[in-house]
Amino acid sequence: MVKDRVAVVTGASRGIGRSIALALAAGGARIVAADISLEGCQALVDELAKTGTEAVAVQCNVAVAEDAERLVNAAMEKFGKIDILVNNAGITRDGLLVRMKDDEWDAVLSVNLKGAFVCTRAASKVMTKQRYGRIINIASIVGQMGNAGQANYCASKAGLIGLTKSNARELAKRNITVNAVAPGFIATDMTEALPEKVRQELAAQIPMERLGSADDIANAVLFLASDNSAYITGQVVAVNGGMYM
Ligand code: NAP
Repeated sequence: MVKDRVAVVTGASRGIGRSIALALAAGGARIVAADISLEGCQALVDELAKTGTEAVAVQCNVAVAEDAERLVNAAMEKFGKIDILVNNAGITRDGLLVRMKDDEWDAVLSVNLKGAFVCTRAASKVMTKQRYGRIINIASIVGQMGNAGQANYCASKAGLIGLTKSNARELAKRNITVNAVAPGFIATDMTEALPEKVRQELAAQIPMERLGSADDIANAVLFLASDNSAYITGQVVAVNGGMYM
């Protein structure tokens, strides 16, 4: 499906990013695993090596433009091309609007939205020259429907959807597709951190009566990263068990 493609995945140490990297590797891609902490990425790369997948770990804070440039340079040095970019790194700093601090707003917007911008800007220069690219942004259901206590996070994910559509229009003529995946409520460390009451309320809203898995998201990303999605761009693929339609 993605045989011999080179895929850069941010936030690849754990959770959804890790599952995406594993799925792309299983599909035949070579992996550039990026994360703010190198340790988890290196563990993933070592694991991939055992299955014969070529991969490299790169320490990168996606909120820093110089780090994004360094990430792209490291990928080019190792593999000489970048076919797929998955902007997955994301954080939460939840709190009610009236109590939300400026630094909580800034941190979330910096990682979730500016991070995707600077990584896409850096990678798209390579992809434009190649006349090929697949960019997948991991948005969120709450970027579509809002969520009390997550003004910063929802704004970042709604912004990411706007960024996806704008970049899709700009890059289409270079044979680069840009799509978003909007996960619903997925079982990872991020949702594990929510209070039990909030988790129960969210779970009760899912028609499929289960939380999603990181693999549910990875499967959608794998499709969007493959040649099978060649004529799909600027779209938001909801993977949410019917929670929002
Ligand atoms: P997670 O378990 O918290 O993992 C996030 C990963 O991103 C971690 O490996 C983390 O590194 C890394 N990261 C954080 N800040 C970074 C930065 N500045 N630069 C580079 N890497 C950074 O989260 P997840 O649940 O897998 O979520 C992955 C993506 O899916 C996020 O964009 C999230 O918003 C989105 N999403 C998740 C859900 C859900 O229900 N879980 C729903 C909708 C959307 P460390 O390990 O060092 O902290």
